[in-house]
Amino acid sequence: MSDITVRQLAADVGVPVDKFMEQLHEAGLAVASADEAISDEEKLKLLNFLRQRHGKDAPDSIDAALPKRVTLKRRSASELKQSRAPGQLSKTVSVEVRKKRTYVKRTEVSDLEQQRELEQAKKALEEQQQQIAAEEQLIREREQERDRLKAEAEAEAEAERRKQQAQTEEARPTAAEKEALTEETAAEKQVQKELDEEAKKLQAMKLEAERKIAKVAERVAEAARKKQEVAKQGKKKGAPDRYEVVAGKKSAFDSTAGLKRKKRKERMRPRKVVDADAKHQFEMPVAPVVREVVIPENIVVSDLAQKMSIKAAEVIKQLMKLGMMVTINQCMDQDTATILVEELGHKPVLQSSDDKEIEMLASLESKEYALQPRAPIVTIMGHVDHGKTSLLDYIRKTRVAAGESGGITQHIGAYQVKTGHGAVTFLDTPGHAAFTAMRARGAQVTDIVIIVVAADDGVMPQTKEAVEHARSAGVPIIVAINKIDKPDADPDRVKQELAAIDVVPEDWGGDVQFIKVSAKTGEGIDELIEALILQSEILELKAPVQGMASGFVIEARLDKGLGPVATVLIQKGTLEKGEIILCGQQFGRVRAMFNENGKAIKSAGPSQPVEVLGLSGTPQAGEEFQVVPNERIARELAEHREEKSRLQKHAAQQASKLDEVFSKMEAGETAVLNLVVKTDVQGSLEALHESLVKLSSDEVTVKVVYGGVGGINEGDANLALASNAIIIGFNVRADAAARKLISEKGIDLYYYSVIYDVIDEVKKSITGMMAPEIKEQIVGIAEVRDVFRSPKFGAIAGCMVSEGVVKRNLPIRVLRDNVVIYEGQLESLRRYKEDIAEVKAGMECGIGVKNYNDVKVGDQIEVFERVEVKREI
Ligand code: GDP
Ligand code: MG
Repeated sequence: MSDITVRQLAADVGVPVDKFMEQLHEAGLAVASADEAISDEEKLKLLNFLRQRHGKDAPDSIDAALPKRVTLKRRSASELKQSRAPGQLSKTVSVEVRKKRTYVKRTEVSDLEQQRELEQAKKALEEQQQQIAAEEQLIREREQERDRLKAEAEAEAEAERRKQQAQTEEARPTAAEKEALTEETAAEKQVQKELDEEAKKLQAMKLEAERKIAKVAERVAEAARKKQEVAKQGKKKGAPDRYEVVAGKKSAFDSTAGLKRKKRKERMRPRKVVDADAKHQFEMPVAPVVREVVIPENIVVSDLAQKMSIKAAEVIKQLMKLGMMVTINQCMDQDTATILVEELGHKPVLQSSDDKEIEMLASLESKEYALQPRAPIVTIMGHVDHGKTSLLDYIRKTRVAAGESGGITQHIGAYQVKTGHGAVTFLDTPGHAAFTAMRARGAQVTDIVIIVVAADDGVMPQTKEAVEHARSAGVPIIVAINKIDKPDADPDRVKQELAAIDVVPEDWGGDVQFIKVSAKTGEGIDELIEALILQSEILELKAPVQGMASGFVIEARLDKGLGPVATVLIQKGTLEKGEIILCGQQFGRVRAMFNENGKAIKSAGPSQPVEVLGLSGTPQAGEEFQVVPNERIARELAEHREEKSRLQKHAAQQASKLDEVFSKMEAGETAVLNLVVKTDVQGSLEALHESLVKLSSDEVTVKVVYGGVGGINEGDANLALASNAIIIGFNVRADAAARKLISEKGIDLYYYSVIYDVIDEVKKSITGMMAPEIKEQIVGIAEVRDVFRSPKFGAIAGCMVSEGVVKRNLPIRVLRDNVVIYEGQLESLRRYKEDIAEVKAGMECGIGVKNYNDVKVGDQIEVFERVEVKREI
């Protein structure tokens, strides 16, 4: 596993082994030798210990912790592009400026420190002057050398002339000799020219150096002036606590002008220029670069490392020093990242992911318009076949289509009903899935929930579910007792059963309106609508009609001809055709708008559902939309959201709900552990529910947000997400859609098959005791495609391994509709009539289950393993 030795860890953390061992002992960890492996739990324990100790040592006031003086050094590189005439290449010049700033906390500025600053600046000036003096010395040497060379050359030339004169008497010089002579003179000229050039360059350098001296002097003067200023203000108590720049920037200047030292070669031979020490440079000492590191709310370790231009391993190491075990792909929160960035000497710039959004959105509209009453938005929920669709259809037929002639009625997921007292908007999204899906995205779209209960059937599992959903969303309920036209209708039974789950009718002293209706005859529908309006008056639902519209996406689809089509529900303001809207991560200009009757409209107000054309993509149901002034803002925000959602997803995948509960407990808050419990049978649900709730203590409240019978579906996962709950599957499994959501959103899901295990584990988790000793792991899943009868083995399931590996020796469970129906062993595992030990995903096999002959097509065979989990010491 990930265990490493104490020695390695010490090396990683950068602490001497013996000291590290000492720390381990202090933390109460029995480690005999440095070569012993250290487990993750032990690491954690050590880190907690160190953290605690660190906490003790930490300064007790923020003020004391604030640095009195901060020196920041920053290097910025940029490129200057020099364009030339068309057709020619442009020239790029790299410019590098190194800045060094010292910030001194104003309240702490003392004369002494000022003096020090000034002296430092002076010292820098002196250094520069020395450098310049050195260069001048060099120039002088060069000039001397040049003079000497010149004199020598002249002397040589003189000697030569004399020699030649003497020779003329004897013979004329040969042609070759003549040539050599001219060559020599040319070489001499060349040297002279070079020397002249050098002199020029040196002169330029001297000027440059002088200019720089002047600049430094200016800085010194400025520093002195600042000092006076600060001296004047610094004494003032309660002066703004900010940092003051006392030493300015300084450009590193490269004197790259090549000073070429020349050596005279053999006498009278053409001279060659030799590059001895080609460059003479002087540079300011390069300090570590301090970067401004923008830290969003969540950041992945590798991204942070990149922002600081260091290796991720370094970040991990530093985090370990700070008491955190992370991996390269792990996401950390802003606080941690900030500490780390500071630790590494950079400057953290905190960025709230909402900052930009809030800022941008706030700039959009500041005006507050008068609030006006708006129609309630109503969702209908209830058990299957109790008449949700019929009720919606009846209302729609009689109230909507009739009113608007000629319109082609189309399904847009919501519609408005107008009455003498006002309008009601119905969300035509039957079932809880849509409701919870929206709520999971934080959209509280619904104002009132109608729970439909068939009078001849009474309260059923989904009725209870609906009640739970409405309750956890805090939305008022109105009960519609449907099918009262039926002879066996028993409305009182419905009342009793609902009262039993705390939905108490008004006439029984409760606060819930119960209306008897028939979706078939239309009886009671008026009363139902009246009840809705009454409820909405109690709720005092209001919204501004003026201003830029905002609201929620109810549903969206991709139409082949029209492109993305979204149904939005306006919550406030008025949406006009032609406006730019932003829907989650999508945006676009509203090309056309239609109401629920397919009629093109130009504008729509609060509580009105409309179909909108013109978006860049299909947004998700439940996402917010709003009108923005222009496309640029829309695009920027859309991109920002995309990035944010990516990071949040990442963070969600990591943050374990249990960890959260734990940290809240540590912080002394009462934590609530929300659970969604799904079981195979009602009996185990009741038993579990009761025992789990009893686990509540002073520190932790255990709350079963929802308990139900059957496999874990998407609705359950959404509910867990919305209520920040852990899902417990007791002898049931999550279906594909739920699994997808669970892994995407990082929802905690635990499977159990023994009630005691559930209780025990939850108890241990909330008391922070220890990890369980034995954990179950699903190794593989095979889907039954066919069932054969074999005289030897009985029923043989022809399977396709859909996930993981099926191993013959491991225990198995047979699942039907995600509920465990049998637990046992495999009798045989075969592939092409051959016995084999294991079969991998994507392959077919024949499975015989020991002592079980009831396998059916569609069942799943789950192979699991019990893994031992190390106990903490
Ligand atoms: P949903 O599953 O809740 O949407 O229920 P439906 O609206 O599909 O209704 C289920 C069945 O009950 C259908 O056959 C309807 O015709 C019937 N039904 C719905 N409401 C009434 C009612 O008020 N009276 C009678 N007699 N039948 C109804
Ligand atoms: Mg239906």
